[in-house]
Amino acid sequence: MNPFTYSRVTGVDDAVQAARAGTHFLAGGTNLIDLMKEGVATPASLVDIGRLPLKEITQADDGSLMLGALASNARTAGHPLVREHAPLLRSAILAGASPQIRNRATNGGNLLQRTRCLYFYDLGVPCNKRQPGSGCPASTGLARQHAILGATADCIATHPSDFCVGLAALDARVHVRSASGERVIPFGDFHRLPGDRPDLDTTLQPGELITHLRVPANRFARHCTYLKVRDRASYAFALVSVAAALALESDGSVADARLVLGGVAHKPWRNVAAERLLVGERPTPALFLAVARSVLEEARAWGGPAMPEGLPGNAFKIVLAERAIVRALGMAAAGIPTNTGEDAFRAMGHAAATEATP
Ligand code: SF4
Repeated sequence: MNPFTYSRVTGVDDAVQAARAGTHFLAGGTNLIDLMKEGVATPASLVDIGRLPLKEITQADDGSLMLGALASNARTAGHPLVREHAPLLRSAILAGASPQIRNRATNGGNLLQRTRCLYFYDLGVPCNKRQPGSGCPASTGLARQHAILGATADCIATHPSDFCVGLAALDARVHVRSASGERVIPFGDFHRLPGDRPDLDTTLQPGELITHLRVPANRFARHCTYLKVRDRASYAFALVSVAAALALESDGSVADARLVLGGVAHKPWRNVAAERLLVGERPTPALFLAVARSVLEEARAWGGPAMPEGLPGNAFKIVLAERAIVRALGMAAAGIPTNTGEDAFRAMGHAAATEATP
């Protein structure tokens, strides 16, 4: 294992002052420790921020939710403010990982988890994200989980988070601190497309620490859905996921809409022009199909041929995404919050999994 130093801090100022070149902040560790064990991440130093006072979930005077960066995903999903004002986030969180991981994983860490591309974790093969300039075997190889939007031949990885898809739909803001002060990053600008620098996942600068997420007040609580399609019924990353949220007028027409895809790009994929197609219209399957086709207009498949059709390995995702968008918008219009996660288990009459509560 790569040698590294370890220190623990108890104040935000101490944390940002302790950051040096090669420092990684350690919070829940649910992805970073795995990456270190595999030799994919080789930090020179770890600064343990697990005891910083960044675990609060509160509501600001303007109705925004303030989600502490170190609040666990489980606590966030179960918090009464999130249930009432941002049920889309609850659905997205509960669609991800397992109860054990959600109890440990933090909100800030969720944003910074790295792709689950198999080649990225295999030190025996090239990978531009792990070793810039070495190549991207996934683009002509096994690409079932990989991107259909916004990718380049340099990297076709997808961002694995469900929570981030919900945060993108609700136009969240990421608040960060560094030794030179504070700044706020709109969620759509936080994650990057690969371009020719797939080694950079985000626009976070070295030494910057996420302190909290701000979720603006919204009108989507009654008509929002997180739909996740995956190879297994639980504990699997999305092939395609859709966060759909509608604000409906009293006559049933759409006053406002949000539509974000997960599992299809290097970042949560939001298409504002497609959202606008919904506004002022009555929600119908034909409208949803037109919206889906608009979102996927520039989609393309990657990877080696899949049997038996001989198509690129992830060509199926373009069809899957179209159907998932239509279904998710229909569920949102009907007020059905999810097709998966704990709420879905409850709807089927099963006992809820045990998770930490606020
Ligand atoms: Fe590496 Fe990205 Fe290619 Fe996967 S898709 S092998 S992460 S460069």
